[in-house]
Amino acid sequence: MTSPDANRSLRPDTVAITAGRVASGSSLAPALFATTTWESDGLADANRRATGTRASQFYSRYANPTVRSFEEAVAALEGAEDAIAFASGMGAIATVILALCSSGDHIVAQKQLYAGTLAFLQGPCQRFGITTTFVDAREPGSFAAAIRPGKTMVVLAETPSNPRLDLVDLDEIGGLRGPITVVDSTLATPLGQQPLAHGAHLSLHSATKGIAGHNDATLGVVAGERELTDAIWAYSVLHGATASPFDALNGLRGMRTLAVRTRQQAETAQFLAESLYNHPAIAAVHHPGLPSHPQFDLAKRQMRNAGTLLSIDLAGGRPAAERFLDAIQVARVATSLGGPETLICHPATSTHASLSPDEAAFAGVSAGLLRISVGLEDAEDLLHDLLGALTPAKSTD
Ligand SMILES: *Cc1c(COP(=O)(O)O)cnc(C)c1O
Repeated sequence: MTSPDANRSLRPDTVAITAGRVASGSSLAPALFATTTWESDGLADANRRATGTRASQFYSRYANPTVRSFEEAVAALEGAEDAIAFASGMGAIATVILALCSSGDHIVAQKQLYAGTLAFLQGPCQRFGITTTFVDAREPGSFAAAIRPGKTMVVLAETPSNPRLDLVDLDEIGGLRGPITVVDSTLATPLGQQPLAHGAHLSLHSATKGIAGHNDATLGVVAGERELTDAIWAYSVLHGATASPFDALNGLRGMRTLAVRTRQQAETAQFLAESLYNHPAIAAVHHPGLPSHPQFDLAKRQMRNAGTLLSIDLAGGRPAAERFLDAIQVARVATSLGGPETLICHPATSTHASLSPDEAAFAGVSAGLLRISVGLEDAEDLLHDLLGALTPAKSTD
């Protein structure tokens, strides 16, 4: 092709549609390879299948064409050479850390972390002699200051972070030298920000959330340079947190509508955050799209939208949160995020119940905090639901 636009690269919303189709032949929808093993044509062929890097059509713990299609699609969206899928987001996190770190090694991570990640670093990693220094991600320079040259193997950042939606400056993470830098980008989705474009080594997702997007698949993925993903793959076949082909299929299906879903969800999240901002029953609304967010400018710099979540801190503490969850009707009380249903959880007693009082205070998990994952319902219906729950009808007794 000689058209002047021959080298024009496709935009992300288009890539979400075009990517990850190689393994499906001419089938428009991804083909589901529900198989654990492949037949070989004798010894030499079996040997070839068994020994290649990311060995394909050998055994599904090593690779599976449906999973590979999902991995290719995520890699394309992240601007990465390759990606590896896992059985869950935690499967991705545990595999990456254990693939890269040995006893005696050191990790720098932020204090504002998904509670499962925090528990993994403080529990099993500590037990295996892998120590972690936790820093305040909002503090410029805090990651760099905690790096111990020659000892720190991994820097782990999560942005936006769970549940208060603090941000980490991706340029700062990308500028760190020495350790492998890993960004848990789950809350932004691959369409919301591109950690690799800022210089991070690995971008990681719980694809259970926005990517699969329908609360029907448990899935994780990490994307980066092939040298690194191949090394992680070599360990991953022993760790065994392998993505199911069926979940990968749902991940790929979710990706096709990711752009339109996140755009709508982010728009509603912004509307709800602005509408609730001055409510007398609410002490604080946390959303990166509000000018009151301490990192509002950073959000504008590194995110395509301000995300699909908000959290609200009820002035009345836990009793108010309890009344609120009893009163909501359209939104549902559940953990997880990024799906079509608006989900509300009370982190202090659910997702973050394992945190010590100090850790909870630091992460902003107060007694009145509610995390809202905005779904695809009508925005006015949601606002009406939330406002109704903030001022519950007077009891008649
Ligand atoms: C949910 C989540 C995880 C863990 O993912 P699973 O798929 O539940 O294992 C990790 N990080 C973040 C930010 C999450 O929201």
